[in-house]
Amino acid sequence: MYSGLLGLGYMGLAVLLAARFRWVEEKVKGLDKSYKLHKNLGIGAMVSLFSHWLIIKSGQWLVGSGILQRPSRGPQPEIEGMNWHAIAEHVGDISFKVFLIFSIISLVQAISYKKFKFTHKIGGLLMFAGIFHTVLLLDWNIGTIPMNIAIAIISIVGIWCSWLSLSGSIGKKNKADGKVGNVKAYAVQSDQNMAVRFSINLESDISYKEGQFAYLNFHDGESPHPFSVLNFDAENRLIEFGVKDLGDYTHKLVNNLKAGQKVTVEGGYGSFQIPEFEKQVWVGAGIGIVPFISRLYWLKRKTEKQQVKLKEVHLFYCVNSEKEAFFRNEILSLIQRLDFIELHLVNAESGEPLDSVQIIEKVKSKNFDICFCGPQQFGEILKTGLNAAGVSENRFHTELFKMR
Ligand SMILES: Cc1cc2nc3c(=O)[nH]c(=O)nc-3n(C[C@H](O)[C@H](O)[C@H](O)COP(=O)(O)OP(=O)(O)OC[C@H]3O[C@@H](n4cnc5c(N)ncnc54)[C@H](O)[C@@H]3O)c2cc1C
Repeated sequence: MYSGLLGLGYMGLAVLLAARFRWVEEKVKGLDKSYKLHKNLGIGAMVSLFSHWLIIKSGQWLVGSGILQRPSRGPQPEIEGMNWHAIAEHVGDISFKVFLIFSIISLVQAISYKKFKFTHKIGGLLMFAGIFHTVLLLDWNIGTIPMNIAIAIISIVGIWCSWLSLSGSIGKKNKADGKVGNVKAYAVQSDQNMAVRFSINLESDISYKEGQFAYLNFHDGESPHPFSVLNFDAENRLIEFGVKDLGDYTHKLVNNLKAGQKVTVEGGYGSFQIPEFEKQVWVGAGIGIVPFISRLYWLKRKTEKQQVKLKEVHLFYCVNSEKEAFFRNEILSLIQRLDFIELHLVNAESGEPLDSVQIIEKVKSKNFDICFCGPQQFGEILKTGLNAAGVSENRFHTELFKMR
């Protein structure tokens, strides 16, 4: 029962995170971190439910092979002629096997995101099945009261969040419809575009903080994809994005996006806001520069009205080649009035990719907060290097561009 309770608890927390409540997102410091936690909770549920299934089955196997004697449990309770106990066991057994396949599909990266997303919809049904199984097999005596209270709480949360998921209500309050406005494509050599920058005219407001991202749904049969907001002009309800060709869907988007296309924006999500510290390093690698541009727009608006606390910001824009520095001019024009921000363009083609030594040399200090957005491995290398040089890991803030 304890292994089952643990599995149910992990599942309950995982569906709570999946419901994208703002207060939950704040607690876990951003939706991107919430997804990572959701994945770890899913793995926890898989391990505990596998142990639960194995413990139960091994008892039955030992009885079957004659090593153990079947304990006498008295007659099975029947309600209106139905053996609900046996039904609950059966539901538990089947749903556990489905959960196992579901977990494998979720974890194996080779399975496309589309298939993963499609099968993930049954997560809510699995939660219902788990609750049904648990509640019907509850042990009713004084000693199990604390456990039953825990099960009741998990069940209420689980049913509520699963219902939101199954009824398609997640994120409903954070959605705004709009139409694509300006589209600017960037190509390096070939006739294929590499990135695109576009605006969306929204019909209603969204809540937004600098550095956040939003889900874009172009109503083309594909599930909404997350993209960082490049700029949001709340007064004119104009929101802008920068997207790079990173896979199947973004390839089509970058090459086919047209003004006038209908789109639904859901957001903003994420906690990639500017830290409090006066001295900062920002590293945007490739399309990872987008949330930093949104910070620049936000700072520009803010400095027009009041003094900001920041004293010194080093913005490292890392690109594969000069030609891929699509946003350099935009950044230069934005920082004209933000004299505490210095741009360092790091071009990998020049043979000197960014590392912790270069950062410390440019900043001439080890006392700074660092924000990173870009390939995960690159971030890990910088974090480890800076940590070894004496910049604590706590000062390293990242936005995870990964949802699975
Ligand atoms: C918080 C966040 C902010 C991001 N901001 C930007 C940005 O500003 N500009 C930009 O160009 N890219 C951004 N990305 C990355 C972008 O979302 C992915 O590159 C894009 O979704 C990949 O889709 P694809 O089908 O083209 O690639 P595929 O090759 O099909 O997929 C590659 C991987 O992308 C992920 N992915 C695919 N579809 C989705 C989806 N619907 N939702 C979530 N993940 C998916 C999966 O992990 C998949 O394995 C951001 C990602 C996150 C999580």
